[in-house]
Amino acid sequence: MIPALLAHGRATPTCGRRKKEGGSSIPPYSPTLCTAAGAAISAFLIQTPARLFDMAIERTFSILKPDATRRNLTGAVNAKIEQAGLRIVAQKRVRMTRDQAETFYSVHSARPFFGELVDSMIAGPVVVQVLEGENAIKTYRDVMGATNPANADAGTIRKEFAVSVGENTVHGSDAPETAAIEIAQWFAGNEIVG
Ligand code: GDP
Repeated sequence: MIPALLAHGRATPTCGRRKKEGGSSIPPYSPTLCTAAGAAISAFLIQTPARLFDMAIERTFSILKPDATRRNLTGAVNAKIEQAGLRIVAQKRVRMTRDQAETFYSVHSARPFFGELVDSMIAGPVVVQVLEGENAIKTYRDVMGATNPANADAGTIRKEFAVSVGENTVHGSDAPETAAIEIAQWFAGNEIVG
């Protein structure tokens, strides 16, 4: 709840009007600063349980895309994830709405493949996950393989299972800030059990 609110910049500790000593108030910080601060705090909070034990332990967000659920590959993909030393600490099967898919991939909204990408994400159920492990973001990107399966290394999920660049089986966060935002978009804190 708190990370979700923070990720959307609606509730940071410095976003409200503050009382100065003596009783008068000073203006709130700018929304841009609040949003940036919110994302940073959110990233820190989401990674905090791991930080207590090892600074290199991270969490990342994963999606098993509709082409994976359609071909009954969720177990096979999860095996690859676990063989790479990542723990699946949250997981649920959902159907994305068009709105959710457009929001999730909004960074690509100007790209020519955006419509096709959104259509593919709502074509069937997806499995959304939180993965935890050492350098989880890079570890998972390595296990996923290149975006285009034709360029993916042998043994990667995309090399073994992807149909095409449009149906490439999995999504994984590309940085700690995006991981925090993506996790907060799909999971409440109490749904993540490390
Ligand atoms: P990722 O981080 O490896 O998933 O790659 P990107 O963030 O660059 O792209 C997001 C998703 O858009 C990819 O996983 C693909 O499913 C899709 N995509 C990227 N490039 C293309 C393309 O040239 N054509 C089509 N149809 N889809 C693409």
